[in-house]
Amino acid sequence: MNQNRFDGLQIGLAEISRLLLPFAIIWLLGSLGLGWLVKSFFILLLLLLLMPVLAFLGFRWWLSRNLVQAKCPVCSYEFMSLNASEFNCPSCGEPLKAENGAFQRLTPPGTIDVSAVEVQTTRRLDDAEAMK
Ligand SMILES: [Zn+2]
Repeated sequence: MNQNRFDGLQIGLAEISRLLLPFAIIWLLGSLGLGWLVKSFFILLLLLLLMPVLAFLGFRWWLSRNLVQAKCPVCSYEFMSLNASEFNCPSCGEPLKAENGAFQRLTPPGTIDVSAVEVQTTRRLDDAEAMK
């Protein structure tokens, strides 16, 4: 009974010393005149903690500089895109380009994508033929 209590006390002490070990090492380094090592370690730790925050802020700044919010010139659907990039309108699929804070069509106005329409009608005709 007494033996068990003594064991429990020993385990408790071992756990406490394990918890105190980092502090003991810091104190030891500090007392050895290696305070700069401790400081640089903490600065490094701080930098590691700040890195995601800085990266996030930098990313937001970059986005605010490069994001364009405008309306599609074809279907006037409003959405955001990266500046100076080519993409398709998420609403009507028109190929667009972001320039000077506005979206411009890549194809000149009046151009109709005939080939795509033609392929679809011929396929539909073939289907109708197969149905007979
Ligand atoms: Zn559109």
